[in-house]
Amino acid sequence: MISQINKFINTIIIENRLRFTPWLLRTSTLLVLLLLFSFVFLDFVNISDLYLKYGIFALFVFFFIKNDINNYWQIRGLQHMYKEFKEINRVTEALRSTMNLDSVLDMVLKNLTRELKYERAFIFLTIEIKQKTVLRGEIGIGVLNEVLRQQVFDLNGTTGIISRTAAEMKPFIIKDAKNDHRCEQQLVELLNLNEFSAIPLIARNNVLGVLVVVADGFTKKEISEEDLTLLEIFANQSAIAIQNARFFEIIERLSFTDELTGLYNHRYFQEKLREQFIISRENCNMISMIYFDIDDFKYYNDTFGHLMGDNILNTIGVMLLSMFDEGTCAARYGGEEFAIILTGKTKAETFELAERLRKTVETYEFEYKKEIKTKTLTISLGISSSMTDDIKEPSDLIDIADNRLYTAKKSGKNIVVQG
Ligand code: GH3
Ligand code: MG
Ligand code: MG
Repeated sequence: MISQINKFINTIIIENRLRFTPWLLRTSTLLVLLLLFSFVFLDFVNISDLYLKYGIFALFVFFFIKNDINNYWQIRGLQHMYKEFKEINRVTEALRSTMNLDSVLDMVLKNLTRELKYERAFIFLTIEIKQKTVLRGEIGIGVLNEVLRQQVFDLNGTTGIISRTAAEMKPFIIKDAKNDHRCEQQLVELLNLNEFSAIPLIARNNVLGVLVVVADGFTKKEISEEDLTLLEIFANQSAIAIQNARFFEIIERLSFTDELTGLYNHRYFQEKLREQFIISRENCNMISMIYFDIDDFKYYNDTFGHLMGDNILNTIGVMLLSMFDEGTCAARYGGEEFAIILTGKTKAETFELAERLRKTVETYEFEYKKEIKTKTLTISLGISSSMTDDIKEPSDLIDIADNRLYTAKKSGKNIVVQG
C-alpha cells in the first residue's frame, strides 16, 4: 500500500514537473519578464497610453508571480507529505524485521517522536482482565509505564476519547483537551495533554489498541487533517506489526508449554536445566531440584475416568504456577511426573518447599472428591541439591532426585526424601 502511495506521489511530482526551484529563478518567469520588459520599455509593441502599458505589465507580472507562489506552496506541501510517506515506508520495513512486541512498540514511539516530530506518544493495547477485553495503557514517552498501565478503559465504551476511538474505529483530533468534554480528565492531567490525536490501531478489522500522539508544544505546529491521514497509515502498519508480534509470542509460548497443565514442557525443562546449571556454576550459586510423581494415579484414571485424570493433572499445574514465581522453572516432566528447578536455595529451603507442596496436595479439594470424599490424593517427592550432593552435570540433579522419589515410593508414598 505504501509503495503504491509512493508511486502516486512520485508520478505527481515527476510527471507534472512540480520539482521545486525558487520561483524567482524559474526560467519561464524570467522569459516572461524579459518579454514584458522589452514590450514596455523598448516599445516592442506600439501602445501609446502609458497607463495601459504599465497596467498590462503589472497584470502579467502579478499573474505569473501568483502562479509561481501557488506552485511553490503546493510543492512544499507535497514534498513534506512525500518525505513523511517515505519515512513511514522506512519504518514499515523496519517493523517487519522484528517479531518482538516490545521492540515493535519501542520503534513505533521513537518514530513518532523523532521522525514525525510529535512531542510525545502513548500506546494503549487491548488486554484480557478478568475475562473481559479492555484497553490498557502499555507504553509511552514522558510517563512511567507502571503508571500508564493503571489506566484501563472500556473497549466498547461510548464515553471517553480512548474508548470512543476504539469503539468507533476512527481517529480524533482534540485541540484543547482540558476543556473538551470528550476527554477523560484524569488521563489529560496524568499525561498533561493539550492538543493531541487518538488513532485506532486496527489490523484485519480488529481493534488492537489506540495510539495517542501529542502536538509539539514548542513549535506550536497543529495536527492537520493531512497529518491525520499519515498517522492513520502509520497506525495501520504498526497494528499489523503488533498483531504479528502477538501471534509470534503465542506460538513461541505454545512451543515450550505443556498444553494440559500450563507448565513448561519436557524439552524446555531440559534446556532450562542446562542453562541454569551453567549460570549457577559461574556464579557459585546453589541449584536444587524437586522431582515428584502422583501416588496411585492409575487408580484415579480407572475409578473416575481419564478425563478426571486430566483434571487432576491440570489442577496440579495450576497449583505449581501459583506456588512458584515466573522465574522458577516448574515443568511437567512426563505423564504424571513433575520437576522444579530452584536456584539460590539451600537444601533445607528446598526440603521446606517440597514439604509445603506435599501438604498442599494432600489437603486439596480435588474435583473427584465430589464423588468419593474420603479418598486422598497424594504425591511422593525426591529432592537433590548441589549443596550436599555430588552434582557434576545437569542430569545428576534429575537422577539423584528420581532415585529418592523411588525410595519415597518404597517407603509408603506421600513423603519427601532428601537423602
Ligand atoms: P505409583 O504410586 O507407583 O506412581 O503408581 P501409579 O498408579 O501412579 O503408577 P504410574 O506412575 O506408573 O502410573 C502412571 C499412569 O499415569 C499411567 C498412565 O495411564 C497415566 N497417565 C499418564 N499420562 C496421562 C495423562 O496425560 N492423562 C491421564 N489421565 N493419565 C495419564
Ligand atoms: Mg504415579
Ligand atoms: Mg509415574
